[in-house]
Amino acid sequence: MKKLKGIGASDGIAVAKVYLFVQPDLSFKRINVADIDQEKARFEAALRASTNDLKAIRKKAAQLLKEVEAQVFDAHLMILADPVMTDEIKAKIQEEKVNAESALKDITGGYIKIFENMDDNVYMKDRAADIRDVTKRILAHLLGVTLPDMTMIDKEVVVIAHDLAPSDTAQLNCKFVKAFVTDIGGSTSHSVIMAKSLEIPAIVGVNNITSLVKAEDFIAVNGNTGEVLINPTSVEKEKFLAAGKKFLAKKAEWDLLKDAKTVTLDGKYFELAANIGTPKDIASVIDKGAESIGLYRTEFLYMKAADFPTEEDQFNAYKSVLKDMNKRSVIVRTMDIGGDKKLPYFHLKEEINPFLGFRALRISISKTGQKMFRTQLRALLRASIYGKLRIMFPMVALLQEFRTAKAIYEEEKTKLLTEKIPVSEDIQIGIMVEIPAAAVIADRFAKEVDFLSIGTNDLIQYAMAADRMNEQVSNLYQPYNPAILRLIKQVIDAGHKEGKWVGMCGEMAADQIAVPLLIGMSLDEFSMSATSILKTRSLIKRLDTKKMEELVDQALNKSDTAEEVIALVQKYLIVP
Ligand code: PEP
Ligand code: MG
Repeated sequence: MKKLKGIGASDGIAVAKVYLFVQPDLSFKRINVADIDQEKARFEAALRASTNDLKAIRKKAAQLLKEVEAQVFDAHLMILADPVMTDEIKAKIQEEKVNAESALKDITGGYIKIFENMDDNVYMKDRAADIRDVTKRILAHLLGVTLPDMTMIDKEVVVIAHDLAPSDTAQLNCKFVKAFVTDIGGSTSHSVIMAKSLEIPAIVGVNNITSLVKAEDFIAVNGNTGEVLINPTSVEKEKFLAAGKKFLAKKAEWDLLKDAKTVTLDGKYFELAANIGTPKDIASVIDKGAESIGLYRTEFLYMKAADFPTEEDQFNAYKSVLKDMNKRSVIVRTMDIGGDKKLPYFHLKEEINPFLGFRALRISISKTGQKMFRTQLRALLRASIYGKLRIMFPMVALLQEFRTAKAIYEEEKTKLLTEKIPVSEDIQIGIMVEIPAAAVIADRFAKEVDFLSIGTNDLIQYAMAADRMNEQVSNLYQPYNPAILRLIKQVIDAGHKEGKWVGMCGEMAADQIAVPLLIGMSLDEFSMSATSILKTRSLIKRLDTKKMEELVDQALNKSDTAEEVIALVQKYLIVP
């Protein structure tokens, strides 16, 4: 048995077999072959095996994902069925007497180069990516190694990976994937946020877990504490299972608060909202007692599709969320692509610092992204009549960016109205405060926006200069640092001074140490993963606002460090 510790990022306990999601070594040597016919036969066998793989994956994907997502595999099958390229590979084996691996790499490499160099043609660049994928699959068969594929998981496992991109997490089938553990990553990375909404435990930053486990190992994980046990003894396994039961009992207690109002001991009401990534999340949002949607991350709609979602696709998604929420407010964030969220069909230049780069609203109001932005705004405006819509712009640094985005919004609204398409009269427009520059001049923003929502996931990383995805600086990623707390209070006060409401949609809104402080600062709305709502409601019901105001004063003005703040909160939470 081996004990490891990482960052417990999504709550819950799981014990299951390991599924190693690690790309195998596909290196090979270029050699000359004597038996050409045998080499060609070897290549053809690899081709057939790849076709069979892809047919099976295609079938599975169609069951698990949407038809458009499954269609990616049709493109791969078409490449395999195209005789031009495969004949060229066989001809190369014949003429140069080289092994199939080399012939394959040479020929497909040539095609990839041609497609990639076709300037800004997105379609051709996609073809290059498809050929690369297919080449990898044939190569794996030639080398006798297996490519991991999460859509094919059909028994209970804990996924172990170096890292998971949000697009990987989007493919997790939580019927079988009981948890995931990664070598790297931080507690607010998007894969973790998705794990929370799927209610699967996640542990990140376990250093070299991928090199410590083997495919046949058993693993026990505790997402609440960050503990990981490889091949636990039966005693340890029982301990984990017992902790799992206890956690479920606690959850059952919180479940009783589903229809309760979120009021403090002294009767002050706070709004608890949910963060969602897709319209499918609504059922669990309502089930978990959320009063509204505080953040709809629309980029997942873009990430799950094979091409830009059309105005109609988006309209349907927004309409269904607004209708399902039945007049409760829904804050839709315009797309936040960039950073760790990439689109395979939208080619952005490689950047050294993508989190500080061309992303979110910066793309939306640019020449490159404006068309996409206008489509999204039209879809939102058309859907607005089905509920209570609020629109929020991400990654705003400058007042001018907000003004430009708002002007584009007004233009699209006017266009629709002249087309006689109805639009709601009650749409609020706000911004996310996630760049320190915007937080510092929140008083100016507050005069122009309808609301402010603090995005602490990014605000903390930018204010502390500590990458939210990097476990090596996770000690600097400090939500309770007095510097961060002062920044947050400043934003809340600035909003209130102008009569605007202020919310928070970063993970900090559900952090059990931060919540008492945020209550003391009079934050109006707390938006979080749906799975954290009842836990947070239970906590808020035990707090007294006057006492929490006193706590805030102590934390902001008399504490030097995050550790001191934690100790202070804990002292205030002990009921005498
Ligand atoms: C944030 O930055 O706090 C936020 C909610 O947005 P995201 O996590 O999607 O960057
Ligand atoms: Mg953000």
